[in-house]
Amino acid sequence: MPEPTDVMTGPIVMLDLAAQRRAIGPVMDQRIAAVLEHGKFISGPEVQELEEALAARAGVRHVVSCGNGTDALQLVLMAWGISPGDAVFVPSFTFTATAEVVSLLGATPIFCDVREDTFNLDVTSLEAAIEAVRVEGRLCPRAIIPVDLFGLAADYPAIHAVAERHGLRVLADAAQSFGASLDEKPVGSLAEVTATSFFPAKPLGCYGDGGAVFTDDDELASIMRSIRVHGKGTDKYDTVRIGVNSRLDTLQAAILLAKLTVFDAEISARQEVAIRYSDGLGSVGSVHAPLRDVSAWAQYTVRVDHPALSRDDIAGRLAKAGVPTAVYYPRALHDQPAYADADRKGEGCATATALASSVLSLPMHPYLDVASCERVIEAVVAAVDA
Ligand SMILES: *Cc1c(COP(=O)(O)O)cnc(C)c1O
Repeated sequence: MPEPTDVMTGPIVMLDLAAQRRAIGPVMDQRIAAVLEHGKFISGPEVQELEEALAARAGVRHVVSCGNGTDALQLVLMAWGISPGDAVFVPSFTFTATAEVVSLLGATPIFCDVREDTFNLDVTSLEAAIEAVRVEGRLCPRAIIPVDLFGLAADYPAIHAVAERHGLRVLADAAQSFGASLDEKPVGSLAEVTATSFFPAKPLGCYGDGGAVFTDDDELASIMRSIRVHGKGTDKYDTVRIGVNSRLDTLQAAILLAKLTVFDAEISARQEVAIRYSDGLGSVGSVHAPLRDVSAWAQYTVRVDHPALSRDDIAGRLAKAGVPTAVYYPRALHDQPAYADADRKGEGCATATALASSVLSLPMHPYLDVASCERVIEAVVAAVDA
């Protein structure tokens, strides 16, 4: 027999897209119907409308939408001419796409460590890695890709200070953080160029793949607009450079426009869930719950360092209590087979390695009600009580 609260709140899920769909159904259906009606499935009017809405939100001059968040990163690196012999500095504790685009262009990702408290790029490790590459003299340091992991903006002021000292460019990987801010400045405006993703599980997700780049740089924006459509010139059949095919579908733009109508409320709701979790969990047993007031809370991730129980044990106990969990990410990038020959082999990336074996993400979405949050908290407290 389920507990009465189970009947009231239903099963807890990591991310409840169905609840969101119930909240914005009519607006969404209208937007989709409009695209089916006009039939401009590629580069339809919704694409430009979305780019303008996103640019206004972030307070930047240009938004270049594209096929996915990985392409968004790649468009920037291609426009900058990142190529073999170049070094690009990335955190080791992130999704693989951050480093993948560097390698795809023949350049070399240099893995840096992350901070224990924010899970984001550690500036001391970054500086050490840049120095090491300089001293070795084989690669040319070109750019840094900080990641706003789990929705929290990286320490851009400190990163920019390092970038300026070494003459490096900064590309923000904000795939998980659209909607967050730092010192009251929105994500999208925190670096000279920012890439984000609209993968369905991201804070602002579409119903398929999608991505976008934010910048105030007129020339960079115009080059990226060319690259995303096969390197076109002023005319579609005028090819001025080697590009890719990476446009955002009109239908996805329409879906994002519908989702934008509730996005601010969703970010606030995620914040409320995070506060509830942090108040309830504090530091129970050996679970360390974070609280950050600027995050988009793509994930709510705790650290588990239990003297007697493994992370799998705790996740297993939570699953039995009806609380799903996920591990982002079980392996730091410098420990991945694909980067077995990576430069510096993740030298000094001890925190990234440690996090990979201790992080656990709890259910997090804007439609998680108070009763469900309390069930999660109770389950975690019970699970770590060995
Ligand atoms: C999701 C993600 C990406 C890639 O986005 P896609 O839209 O899936 O290509 C890149 N970087 C980070 C940190 C991500 O979380």
